[in-house]
This record gives sequence, C-alpha cells and structure tokens, in this order.
Amino acid sequence: MTIKENLNNIQSQLPEHVTLVAVSKTKPISDLMEAYDAGQRIFGENKIQEMADKHTEMPKDIEWHMIGHVQRNKVKYMAEFVTLIHGIDSFKLLNEINKQASKHDRTIDCLLQLKIAKEDSKFGMSSKDVQELLISEAFKNLQNIKITGLMGMATFTDDTNQVKQEFERLKTTFDDLKSLESKNCELQIISMGMSGDYKLAIDCGSTMIRVGSSIFGTRNYSN
Ligand SMILES: *Cc1c(COP(=O)(O)O)cnc(C)c1O
Repeated sequence: MTIKENLNNIQSQLPEHVTLVAVSKTKPISDLMEAYDAGQRIFGENKIQEMADKHTEMPKDIEWHMIGHVQRNKVKYMAEFVTLIHGIDSFKLLNEINKQASKHDRTIDCLLQLKIAKEDSKFGMSSKDVQELLISEAFKNLQNIKITGLMGMATFTDDTNQVKQEFERLKTTFDDLKSLESKNCELQIISMGMSGDYKLAIDCGSTMIRVGSSIFGTRNYSN
C-alpha cells in the first residue's frame, strides 16, 4: 500500500467531526510530500527542530502540530508558525509559549495533556492539576495562548478494556471541565487515538486522531 492509499483508506472511514493529524516524525520530506499531494494538510511532529526544518522546506498551507514533550527553551523555534501544541503539562510551559507567541503578535492554540496511562514513561497532568490551572489568575492573564482541548495517550497494551477505560476518563474529564471555560479556554478538541487504537478512541469521543505508522509505515529510529 502506498502512503496515498493508506491515507485515503483512513480518511474514508472517519466521521466528519474527526480530524486526522498525519504523524510524520522521522520521515523524509518525500514521504510528507506524497501525503501532501494526496490532500493531507495537517502534520504532527514530536521534535521542534525537525518540525521547523520541515516547515521551512514544505508548502506554506500546512498546519503543523507539535505532539511531543516540549522543552521550554525550544518554544521560540516554533512560535512563529505552529498551529497547535498538544502536550502542555505545566503552567511554566504555557507561560513561555505565551511569551514567545506575543513576540509574533499571535495567539497559539494549546491542548493540556492529561495523564491517563498507567506507565510512568507517559507524561501529563492530573485532572486536579488541570482544574487548578484553569481557575488560576495567572492563567487568566495569558493573552497569547488559548486552551482548545485535551490530549491523552493510552497505555501501550493489548488490553482493549483498559485502553477504553483510559479514553473514557479523558472524555469525562473534558466534559467536566466545560464549566471552567473562559476567554482563553474554549474546549473543543479531544486529541486521542493513534494507529493501534484510533477506532476505539473515536468510539470514546475523540475528535482528533494522531496517526503515524498506519500512514507512513513503521519508523526506523536508527538512521
Ligand atoms: C508517534 C506518536 C503518534 C503516532 O503513533 P503511531 O502508532 O505511529 O500512529 C501519536 N501520538 C504521539 C504523541 C506520538 O508521539
């Protein structure tokens, strides 16, 4: 199957309210261009430098999503062009994004990453952390960021039931937080689901899926 066939296959099965982020980390520009030529305009990367390089080389009507763990000192390299940052896990990070966004006179949309997996390797905030952040005065003073939803990664396991429970927890938390909406928090996006679990994620309420290997094939980290 080609990249184009994979993309068309996935797109044709998606409900209209679900957005596909094509996760292109580690993949060469030629692969991304194949997806672009097939109509894909939203790409997800997990390293800021790699995303910035690809942004420079590729057509300018692409939306770039940062889906990885963000280092504060690198925010400046994407502040000018990034469309959505999925993995916010602290006020400090949000504050830095706000600062860099204001230098470019723009507002950057962000998702708070909720820790739903049991694995320690997966980062993210607790639902209590999220609530405290959203009601704080310091947060309300940030004028160059907007929280537009939540993101989560389920545990890497064959236990579908566990994955389902984790997705459901993200959806429930999202619904509970609706009452905390404010000028810079409008909750619309639930980013959950990857190649192995996106169908289940959609059944559990996902509105944005992040799919890599089912589009581009398996990743080779050794080169
Ligand atoms: C790599 C990655 C994905 C895509 O994973 P696949 O299993 O290849 O679809 C999705 N989300 C995040 C945060 C990732 O780092």
